[in-house]
Amino acid sequence: MALPPNVHDAEPIPAAARDAIDALMQSGDLFRYTAPEDAPVTLLEQEYAALLGSKYALAVSSCSAALFLSLKALGLPRDARVLIPAFTFAAVPSSVVHADCVPVLCEVGENYRIDMDDFAAKLDSVQAVIISHMRGHTSDMDAIMALCDARGIPVVEDAAHSLGTTWHGRNIGTIGKVGCFSFQSYKMVNAGEGGILITDDADLIARAVIMSGAYEHNWKKHKGPHGENTPDLEQAFAKWQNQLPLYNLRMSNLSAAVIRPQLPELARRVRDGLANHDYVGERLNASPYFDVPAPLAPERRAPDSIQFNLADLNEAQTRAFAAAAEAKGVKVQVFGLSTDNARAFWNWQFLRDIPDLPQTRAMLMKACDVRLPVRLTRAELDVIADILLAAAEETMGLAAA
Ligand SMILES: *Cc1c(COP(=O)(O)O)cnc(C)c1O
Repeated sequence: MALPPNVHDAEPIPAAARDAIDALMQSGDLFRYTAPEDAPVTLLEQEYAALLGSKYALAVSSCSAALFLSLKALGLPRDARVLIPAFTFAAVPSSVVHADCVPVLCEVGENYRIDMDDFAAKLDSVQAVIISHMRGHTSDMDAIMALCDARGIPVVEDAAHSLGTTWHGRNIGTIGKVGCFSFQSYKMVNAGEGGILITDDADLIARAVIMSGAYEHNWKKHKGPHGENTPDLEQAFAKWQNQLPLYNLRMSNLSAAVIRPQLPELARRVRDGLANHDYVGERLNASPYFDVPAPLAPERRAPDSIQFNLADLNEAQTRAFAAAAEAKGVKVQVFGLSTDNARAFWNWQFLRDIPDLPQTRAMLMKACDVRLPVRLTRAELDVIADILLAAAEETMGLAAA
């Protein structure tokens, strides 16, 4: 069998980033608010908003910072309850706690998406919702928006892993009131660290901009669509001047210089990532041991990893499968099978109380996660699929014996 590919390295950063970084090194102009206009961070915000189809964007230090600022910008009172899916990364409940709010966890189904019955049952007890499209799996946004709009409950989309995903052809992150994205190295666009939030709401963006660290009149360097001032934006900034704390979660020009040349690569990365995922998914689904859940009908995914469930394996067999795959060179993460996994809700022991969520727990004890960076070739994908299939055969052989 051929050697398994390295699935941890990202794609090389486009060469254009080097020229931009060299220029920044020469000028020393790394702070976003030094230049009178057209700083790399400002240009990134304009390009990103245009790319996604929203009015405003604010680049910050991480997606976690974007989530935190979104909750703060919504003006939620202390101890407001925020509904989040129980299958997400620990950064999401952490951002809620950081914003002095209380996370309320909602059940997630075997297909990694929000359980709409549990969501509807808990909705009347919360003041805001964060939809975390975990691993880029989109929950039923039609049902979610209908339920939330009927109650006037704001929806924040955690689109950290959904850049390039669409729902009825519309970009994920533009459906809720605000969408948050990550530029951490394991996401579709890699700056090591970084995040951005997008919204059409002038008041919300003005609050978020000021709290992100646009002290004094630095907010004047934030414009609306096409780099133009809009009266509602100017009024919002004037209204919030000196009224809000400054949390200093800004992005550096260096990060923006690394991100901007990657944006034109996005369409190709999305296309390759989806083709790779569906190729491996089809090979796995042809085996009786694997179930790769299908996307929802309105959803077009942008995956850089694959998740699957193993048919009727108990915990010991699931561990044996993961160990067999790892011995052959493919790391399989089973979210619920380690004492420190940051995506298993019972490990979020910083929460005041951790609810009992049997459906999500059962999913996390079985769901497998394998990285599939978009740069992998067909031959490399075949090596990964072959190893997973062989590991399953071995484990099933043991199980039957
Ligand atoms: C990566 C990720 C985050 C956190 O992003 P950071 O930029 O590292 O803060 C949050 N939610 C999801 C779904 C993620 O995948």
